[in-house]
Amino acid sequence: MNKVLLIGAGGVGSVVAHKCAMVPEVFGEITLASRTLSKCDDIAASVKARTGREIATAQVDADDPAQTAALIRKTGASLVINVALPYQDLTIMQACLDAGVDYLDTANYEPKDVAKFEYSWQWNLHETWLKAGRSALLGSGFDPGVTNVFTAWALKHHFDEIHTLDIIDVNGGNHGHAFATNFNPEINIREVTAECRHWEDGAFVETPPMSKHQPFTCPDGVGTYEIYRMYHEELESLVKHIPTIRRAQFWMSFSPNYLKHLEVLQNVGMTRIDPVVYQGVEIIPLQFLKAVLPNPGDLGVTTKGKTCIGNVITGVKDGQPKAIYIYNICDHEACFAEVGSQAISYTTGVPAMIGAKQMLEGKWRKPGVWNMEQYDPDGFMADLNVHGLPWQFIELTPEQAAGFVVA
Ligand code: NDP
Repeated sequence: MNKVLLIGAGGVGSVVAHKCAMVPEVFGEITLASRTLSKCDDIAASVKARTGREIATAQVDADDPAQTAALIRKTGASLVINVALPYQDLTIMQACLDAGVDYLDTANYEPKDVAKFEYSWQWNLHETWLKAGRSALLGSGFDPGVTNVFTAWALKHHFDEIHTLDIIDVNGGNHGHAFATNFNPEINIREVTAECRHWEDGAFVETPPMSKHQPFTCPDGVGTYEIYRMYHEELESLVKHIPTIRRAQFWMSFSPNYLKHLEVLQNVGMTRIDPVVYQGVEIIPLQFLKAVLPNPGDLGVTTKGKTCIGNVITGVKDGQPKAIYIYNICDHEACFAEVGSQAISYTTGVPAMIGAKQMLEGKWRKPGVWNMEQYDPDGFMADLNVHGLPWQFIELTPEQAAGFVVA
C-alpha cells in the first residue's frame, strides 16, 4: 500500500488532500503536515466528511530538513508532495534524500530575499538524485504542469517540430472582494511584479512588467479578457527540452481593478520584500500585506465564473504548417461544490495528485530531477479527463494562431 506525505495546508494542499483521498487504490495512507496543525485538522475533517476517509495530520517546519526527514520516516511515506511555498523546495528535497523517498512540487525554488525564480537550484541536484536512485518531479500544477504536458502531447501527436508556444491563462472568476489574489499573495505578487521575459530566437528578452497586452476571447462563452505578457517558470524548462521552439510567451488575464490596486500597493511600497523597521520591529511589507488580504483558500465560497487555461502552438507536421489550441475550462462553483475550493487551487491540486499518481504507478519514476514534459504525456492526459480537468483541442489556421483567435 502506498503511503504519501503532503506538506502544506493552504488552498492547494486542501485540494490535493481531497483528490488523493478520492483515489484510495493509489493513495493508501495519507498524512497532511504543515506549519499550523489546526489547518491540517480542518482539512482532514472536510476530507472525512466529503470522502469518508481518515487522513493523518502532523505539524512540521519544512524549513528544517532534519525535522522533515524525521516526519517522513515516521509516516513511512514513499513520496512527498510539496505544496508548501517555493521557499521550502530545497529543504524538503534534502529531507527526501535523507529519508530515501521521492519528491514532487508545483513551483520552482525561490529565495525569500530576492524575487527570482529559476530552475537552476533544483536542476543542479540532478546528479545527486540520479546517484541516490530517487525521483523528483518538478512543477506538477497547472502552469507549470498541465501546460508542459499539453506541449509534450502536442509534440508527440500533432507536430514534427514546434516553433511557437503561447500559454494563455485566463481567470474569468469574480470573488467579490475589492482585492485578493487567487493563490498565496506573497508568491503571486512577486510573480506579477517581476520583469517580463519571453523566449525569442535563442534567448530570453526582457521587457517591463505588463507592458504588452491584448484582448483574448476564450472558447465556449467564457468571455473576453485582457491578457498581459509576463514571465512564467515553465518557459525556461520548455525551451530547454524542446529546442525547436523559436518563440515562447506566457500571458495571464488581469482585471482593471486588480491592476489598479496592485499599482497603488507598489507605489506606496507595500510590495517591497526588504525589511522595514516599524516601531522597533523588522517587518517585510509584502508579508504584512499577505496578513491583511483575504486568504485565497477562503475565496471559494464567493467565487463565480470560469478559468480557461491553454496553449496556442504552431509548427510543422509532414512538411506542412500546423497550429492547434489545447485548453481546459474549469468552473469555480463546481470546484467549490466538489472539494470546497476555488478553481485556482483546484487546477493546481488536481495535477499535483495526477503527477503523484504517475509516480506511484511507476510510469513517471526515473532517478534524477525531471520536468513534466520529459515524461510520456498520455497517461497524465487521460487522467486529467477522469479526475476533473477535461481538456479539448482545436485546429487553427496560421492567421487564427497569430491573432490567438480560438473562439
Ligand atoms: P498557501 O499560502 O495557501 O499555503 C501554503 C501552506 O504552506 C500553508 O499552509 C503554510 O502554512 C505552509 N507553509 C509555509 N511555510 C511552511 C513551512 N516552513 N513549513 C511547513 N509548512 C509551511 O499557498 P497555496 O496553497 O496558494 O500555494 C501552494 C503552492 O502552490 C505554492 O508553492 C504556489 O506557488 C503553488 N502554486 C502553483 C501553481 C501552479 O499552477 N503550478 C498555481 C498556484 C499555486 P501556514 O498556514 O502556517 O502559513
